[in-house]
Amino acid sequence: MKVRVGINGYGTIGKRVASAVAAQDDMEVIGVTKTRPSYEAHLACAEGYPLYVAKPDQVAAFEKEGIKVEGTLEDLVGKVDIMVDATPGGVGEAYRELYERAGIKAIFQGGEDHGIAGVSFNAYANYKESWGAKFSRVVSCNTTGLVRTLYPLDKEIGVERVSATIVRRGADPSDNKGSALNSLEPSLKLPTHHGPDVQTIMPWINITTMAVKSPTTLMHLHCVIADLKKEVKESDVLAAWDDVSRVRLVSGKRGLKGTANIMELAKDLDRPRGDFMEIAVWQDGIKVVGKTLYYYQAVHQESDVVPENIDCIRSMMKMEPDASRSIKKTDTSLGIGE
Ligand code: NAD
Repeated sequence: MKVRVGINGYGTIGKRVASAVAAQDDMEVIGVTKTRPSYEAHLACAEGYPLYVAKPDQVAAFEKEGIKVEGTLEDLVGKVDIMVDATPGGVGEAYRELYERAGIKAIFQGGEDHGIAGVSFNAYANYKESWGAKFSRVVSCNTTGLVRTLYPLDKEIGVERVSATIVRRGADPSDNKGSALNSLEPSLKLPTHHGPDVQTIMPWINITTMAVKSPTTLMHLHCVIADLKKEVKESDVLAAWDDVSRVRLVSGKRGLKGTANIMELAKDLDRPRGDFMEIAVWQDGIKVVGKTLYYYQAVHQESDVVPENIDCIRSMMKMEPDASRSIKKTDTSLGIGE
């Protein structure tokens, strides 16, 4: 029998997780929630996902738009094994008690604090820590990006210390609140929260981070300096990422000079929604000097966490004990690494 999944919050992350769940043969989408009868609510219906509203007083607005509502979130929790909570950052906390009362498991996203679940998730680094867990949290897009490249480096070579600067996208492409059009805005609270967030997955790693918000919507860019435990060559660094399907090497020399080119590549590859779920590392921007490694990576904020949600479901629902087998299954179904 397939695992029954609900999605609370069919927005940027929620709609992508719904598509990814629907692409698996061992889980299915039982329903998704919306708060307003937006175009996304119409799209959810067109995809065939039963639509639920977060609160009963929202039903009338949907019916006025001719959208069939199956019930409320309270009804949906009674029909699923696990809820992927993809509500805006800080909102998930309010639903934790509802999930607990309904006796279902739930995955929260990176906009919530680690404490909401007590365990945070990355498929490569700590798949087993969420095994059978009632609650877990898939870390943010930036943290996922940092862990994807740092964990294999630490495992294969050893990492003494990391300092990273995160050039953050100002807003998601469809976000019409956004950030300043002509300004770079440094995070003044230092070091930023990204380092401690990486430590929720890799508590042993010595990492500090800074961040700058920039007027772009496409991707985040990370500038990483890592002091390694031994002197290595660039080829050893590449070897550490060799089997990591969710890290993809790109080349500036071949025209992938910036995030715009990577987004174009995603479209050329016919990736759904133009998403790029791998972390893109510039192969020709890797340099080792003594024991110090320098590299750049780009993170597609809207999609890198999506495969992590699928693997997290498998770990929490005890569906696949072997992390690498779950990762492979997810990646094959989503075209990652092709
Ligand atoms: P979003 O605003 O695009 O979507 C949120 C969805 O939740 C919308 O469908 C909205 O209608 C719904 N919603 C709003 N209030 C609600 C409520 N009270 N109850 C139920 N549903 C409600 O947000 P998002 O970007 O998808 O972010 C979701 C989570 O994922 C956040 O924790 C965020 O930090 C995290 N995240 C976002 C990104 C990103 O770049 N967008 C990347 C990684 C992680």
